[in-house]
Formats: sequence, C-alpha cells, structure tokens
Amino acid sequence: MGDVVVGVLALQGAFAEHVKMLRQLGVTAQQVRKPEELDGLDGLIIPGGESTSMALIAERWGLVQPLKAWVGAGKATWGTCAGMILLSDRATGQKQGGQALIGGLDVTVNRNYFGRQIDSFEADLHVPILGDPPVHALFIRAPAITETGAAVNVLAALTDREGSSVAVAVRAGPILATAFHPELTDDLRWHRLFVQMVAI
Ligand code: GLN
Repeated sequence: MGDVVVGVLALQGAFAEHVKMLRQLGVTAQQVRKPEELDGLDGLIIPGGESTSMALIAERWGLVQPLKAWVGAGKATWGTCAGMILLSDRATGQKQGGQALIGGLDVTVNRNYFGRQIDSFEADLHVPILGDPPVHALFIRAPAITETGAAVNVLAALTDREGSSVAVAVRAGPILATAFHPELTDDLRWHRLFVQMVAI
C-alpha cells in the first residue's frame, strides 16, 4: 500500500490518530490545512471532532469549495463522526443558522442522534464486510444516519433505545462514512478498507 497518498483534514479534532493508523499500514499520510494540499492526494479522511467548528474553520481557510470539488470529482473520501456529518447531503439537529456542509453522500444525518440520549458509549457491531470479530465501536456525541438514498450501502446499523434501527456505517461508491471512531481503537480494519477503496 506504499504507493497510496492519503490526506487527513487537520483543522480540528482527531486527525493525528488517523495519520498514525495510516502510517501503521505503510500508507503515506499527510495533514491537509490548505486547498493546495489536496493536490496529488489519492484519498482524504475528514476526522471526528465538532462539525460546526470544523465547517467554520474550513470556511475561513477557503477550503469549502475545494473540498466540494474534491468530493464532486469522485475522489475517495472517508468521514468519521463530525466528518460524516460534513459529507452528508442533508442534516437535522443543526445549530441555529445551520452550517456549511460539503455534501456528496446521499443520506440524512442527525448530528447528535445519540448525543441527546447519552454522551458516549461503546458497542460491538456486526459488520459483514469486515467479518469477525465484531467491531468494538466508540460513539462520542455521535450522529446517526436516519435515511439513505438508493445507492447507499449500509455497512453497520445499531438499534436505538426506542427500538429503531439507524445506520452507523455506510458506503456509497468512493465515499465511506462512520458515526464512530475507529482511529481511537487499535483495529486497523476500517483504515485498510478505506485504503483499498483509495487504491481502486
Ligand atoms: N456530534 C458532533 C458534531 O456535531 C460530532 C461528534 C464527534 O465527532 N465525536 O460535530
């Protein structure tokens, strides 16, 4: 996997952890803070953190349009948690005035779906595409996907306290999105999956 170069958006949040895991897989990983740092990348990770802050910083640093163009060009992109929110075409539970979304993923995300019930929790997820063992997932003020477009594949779902099933990991073509934080565990399977998507 040495030929692949993956950028991690490094405006705010858990970017260093993603860089570390990519390097463990032998992938060249770079932090991205300026539009020109997207040039030459094969894939991009948008990390978890706080989506409103990340969107504000992206606006201030002139990154919103370049990121939209990146996703619009069909480049491999993975959003974790806040990153998943920014990649979603539709969001609910926004702060007043909403926020700039990058979009590209045909889903409706609820920004603080689990946050309203409980701040953080852990769950073992059955993820057929990754096989056994189940994924031990960390949810931190986590969003969830409440509606998916026809071309969106649900990779993992969770049943909430009311008994409704919501998607917490999805893939649509070159876009991967997870509501939880694989970069805060030592399970490299999601990063390996994404690097395979990048290499296609
Ligand atoms: N719910 C948070 C948000 O709105 C995301 C939390 C996270 O990335 N851990 O940005």
